[in-house]
Amino acid sequence: MDTRILIVGGGVAGLMTKNRLEALGYAPTLVEKADALRTSGTGILLGANVLRIFRECGLEEALLAKSQKLREIRSLDYLGEPIGGFDLAKIERDTSYATVAIHRHDLHEILSNSVDQDTIKLGYQLTQIKYNGTTYSVSFENGEEGEYDYIIGADGLYSQVREELFGHIGLRDSHQGCWRFVIDIPKDIDITSSCEMWGDKKRVGIFPIGQGKVYCFLVVTCHGEEENMDLDMVLDTFKGFCGDWQSIAHDVASIKPELIYGKLADLDSIILHKDRAILIGDAGHATTPNLGQGAAMGIEGAYLFGELLKEHSIDKAMELYAQKRYNRVNNIRERSRMLGKIAHISSPFLQGVRNFVMRMTPSSIGQKQFENTIIDW
Ligand SMILES: Cc1cc2nc3c(=O)[nH]c(=O)nc-3n(C[C@H](O)[C@H](O)[C@H](O)COP(=O)(O)OP(=O)(O)OC[C@H]3O[C@@H](n4cnc5c(N)ncnc54)[C@H](O)[C@@H]3O)c2cc1C
Repeated sequence: MDTRILIVGGGVAGLMTKNRLEALGYAPTLVEKADALRTSGTGILLGANVLRIFRECGLEEALLAKSQKLREIRSLDYLGEPIGGFDLAKIERDTSYATVAIHRHDLHEILSNSVDQDTIKLGYQLTQIKYNGTTYSVSFENGEEGEYDYIIGADGLYSQVREELFGHIGLRDSHQGCWRFVIDIPKDIDITSSCEMWGDKKRVGIFPIGQGKVYCFLVVTCHGEEENMDLDMVLDTFKGFCGDWQSIAHDVASIKPELIYGKLADLDSIILHKDRAILIGDAGHATTPNLGQGAAMGIEGAYLFGELLKEHSIDKAMELYAQKRYNRVNNIRERSRMLGKIAHISSPFLQGVRNFVMRMTPSSIGQKQFENTIIDW
């Protein structure tokens, strides 16, 4: 098909969209501002909703080969005492779809290996788009220009496509910041399940990602100095945390892995479609990572768009994509934001009440809510 489709951004959402379009016979061009598709980063959790899509797309086997299947996510207090959790093995038994954690580099490799490399242009940073009523004139920082019939903006939280075509949309600051890193699993512990430990306005997440590695994230309520904190200061902040964290912190102090820090934010509003352009992934509906569903939303969106294209014209599929995705991504965005607030309640009294209520709530109730969030869309 000679329809000229431009996908901007070679992240998870852009690559998945390219995969789906190519499966239908389209030959979209994907531009990525970096000189290589992502080769760094830390870990990522992919729920049963993603596994379902990867199976449909013939990518599940590759994903399972490189990742760690998770049996459960335990919610613990900072001393390591259980306050809740989710049974992921049950979801797999019920639906046949696993939940996995994987190194981001491996996820990107799986996705980029699944698309045509000849139509990926690296080192192409989109700077300007003009819509003339039927086509888009596009300019890149390297001086190149192009003409396209359709634009798919998958260029992340700070999307230039969004800025150019939809106008400015601000970020919602969550007032939380997150360090993350990957190290070899310490020799003295056997991490077979993942956990998130909640302390006083701070959290530690521990997720094995396969191949002997563990991915950790450390979240704090921001006070302003986080950007400048060195490794020792970060470890000091999480000193009271117990359980597997103690062995991990001990190894981190000597290995000194690269810590990646970022403030957690989502978008002020969700924006998905205008004229002959759509936004997919963080560009249109970024969410805070508290539910571990940000990339999953981009993957779901790309998949849905592909399914709609099987029965509709591109224009109609774009319109329906926006209609069908709004409630889903908004629901995840709001729930994720709420979870972040609950996790960082500032009053020690309310923290105690929260933990008590979580301990007392029958696990089946939380499990059902979690299953509905992940699976029903
Ligand atoms: C701490 C943290 C933990 C997370 N954990 C999870 C998790 O466990 N599970 C989950 O599902 N999600 C998680 N997420 C969310 C997830 O990382 C994002 O939702 C996802 O990576 C977004 O993918 P994307 O392709 O939309 O955007 P991005 O990954 O940001 O990709 C955008 C791409 O566009 C390129 N680009 C940008 N501007 C231009 C331009 N002008 N021209 C050309 N190219 C451009 C960029 O270089 C980049 O390659 C987490 C997020 C954070 C911050």
